[in-house]
Amino acid sequence: MHLELKNVSKTYGSHKAVADVSFGIERGKLIGLLGPSGGGKSTLLRILAGLETPDSGDIWINGQRVNDVAPQERGIGFVFQNYALFKHMNVFDNIAFGLTIRKAKKAEITERVNELLDLTGLRGFEKRYPHQLSGGQRQRVAFARALAPRPELLLLDEPFAAIDAKVRKELRTWLKQLIETIGITSIFVTHDQDEAVEVADEMLIVQQGRLEQQGSPLDVYTTP
Ligand code: ADP
Ligand code: ADP
Repeated sequence: MHLELKNVSKTYGSHKAVADVSFGIERGKLIGLLGPSGGGKSTLLRILAGLETPDSGDIWINGQRVNDVAPQERGIGFVFQNYALFKHMNVFDNIAFGLTIRKAKKAEITERVNELLDLTGLRGFEKRYPHQLSGGQRQRVAFARALAPRPELLLLDEPFAAIDAKVRKELRTWLKQLIETIGITSIFVTHDQDEAVEVADEMLIVQQGRLEQQGSPLDVYTTP
């Protein structure tokens, strides 16, 4: 997947949440999207995902302009801070959700969910309900659910923010391995500089709606 944003802007009232942002992302990279709270990170992700319409600018995925493409047709998976699993569904059904709504065949769903249970280390937990899991396990279910329909781009909005520091560190290492294993292009939003440096191949720094820098973690932190 190749992603390209061109001159994307979004204003709420008189406030520019996203101001003329352009960038491109190469296939397979884990991009850290970093910046202060209120800088426009979530708005950018929502625009990419199609959950928010930009006032101007274009979004291109694999050479196709997707501004008018519905969220579920964009080949994008999301994981948010608050896992938002379906409380009344067990782990298996939560992971299967995106496949079930796409009316996938039962055998295909079972095979794919089993693959994801192995990939996320959740084998044996498929019958459990969200309240029977730890925070870290719930967030791994959220990753499995997002990955089930085989998205080409994964958007992660502070996925570990609600998890305590020790488990968060373990999850970062786990995530980096997972993403390397599947080779999916990903954007990881965080306001934690150390977390960004640890997980990201490349960084985007946004501030007051503007893209201030794009580069390797080293470039970004050694540039005055
Ligand atoms: P970040 O994710 O970097 O914290 P956001 O994208 O959430 O930043 O917000 C960027 C700016 O846009 C903030 O000033 C925020 O208050 C504003 N904003 C975001 N969403 C809305 C909305 N739906 N309505 C009005 N203002 C919004
Ligand atoms: P996809 O669109 O890739 O299939 P999901 O399977 O995560 O993504 O979600 C499908 C739809 O269901 C989306 O509109 C999403 O916002 C919504 N959804 C996902 N999880 C929840 C949830 N826990 N509560 C309410 N709505 C949800």
